Amino acid sequence: NASRLLGKTVLVTGASGGIGAATAVLFAKGGANVILLARRADALAKVTEACVDAHKQSGLQQGGKFASVQLDVSDLDQVTALWSKVPQELRDVDILVNNAGFVLGFEHVGEISQADIEAMFKTNVYGLISVTQLLVKDFKAKQSGHVINLGSIAGREPYAGGSIYTATKHAVNAFTGSLLRELVNTPIRVTEIQPGKCILASMVETEFSIVRYRGDEQAAKKVYEGLDPLTAEDIAEEIVWAASRPPHVNIAETLIFPVNQA
Ligand code: NDP
Repeated sequence: NASRLLGKTVLVTGASGGIGAATAVLFAKGGANVILLARRADALAKVTEACVDAHKQSGLQQGGKFASVQLDVSDLDQVTALWSKVPQELRDVDILVNNAGFVLGFEHVGEISQADIEAMFKTNVYGLISVTQLLVKDFKAKQSGHVINLGSIAGREPYAGGSIYTATKHAVNAFTGSLLRELVNTPIRVTEIQPGKCILASMVETEFSIVRYRGDEQAAKKVYEGLDPLTAEDIAEEIVWAASRPPHVNIAETLIFPVNQA
């Protein structure tokens, strides 16, 4: 029931594009307030405008407060200073969507640069953990809240050329599972959304593939040829659905594929 989102405040990391942007807009449309967080200020501003439009079009009275926060989740000092960048009226967060993440390249073990290893771990794992640590303190204090983490099929199935990315997403899976068990018997919910399949093609068509191919847009586009990939909106719908279940229901884990993949 979408009315459960009315007036809620959602923090979405990696909200400047792809799944995070689609998620922010869908929450805005559903009458929620949204804090949009990412590194690129210009892209964030565009998505924030789209949120304002989506909320206007919804005609809903509740929600409609938005803040874009330029922040790198891989930098602990920046994460620690998060609240100083968020207007007071949006500091009481109900739902955290830990979506920021990426994969770089297809190198095999022994050929991967230390910089790439650190970049992926610092954002996908340390960043996700730092933001969760901050928010879960508040959730415990007020005895409500929902943590929604973006895992991946890569957090279940390793593949050649994906050792670091799959290690980061397996770490997300382990972290999320432990958090879920720590918070059992509290009203705080913990969800992991795992988009997939066709590992090498990254089956949600977003900038994810362009980052993976280090900016080579042609190569990134080619991987989807002849396939019918999921869209960022498909995943956003799933996230918003999980967030709008009745309070006694926790969607612990979901795996979502395009219909032509298994
Ligand atoms: P995109 O590349 O389209 O978006 C990634 C977002 O994360 C961008 O908004 C980017 O913004 C942000 N981001 C990256 N690093 C940081 C950082 N250090 N601090 C803050 N924000 C950051 O990818 P998707 O939307 O496709 O991916 C979103 C999530 O879904 C990721 O966790 C990914 O692993 C997961 N996923 C994606 C799949 C796919 O096929 N696309 C499949 C399975 C899982 P900015 O550059 O402005 O910081």
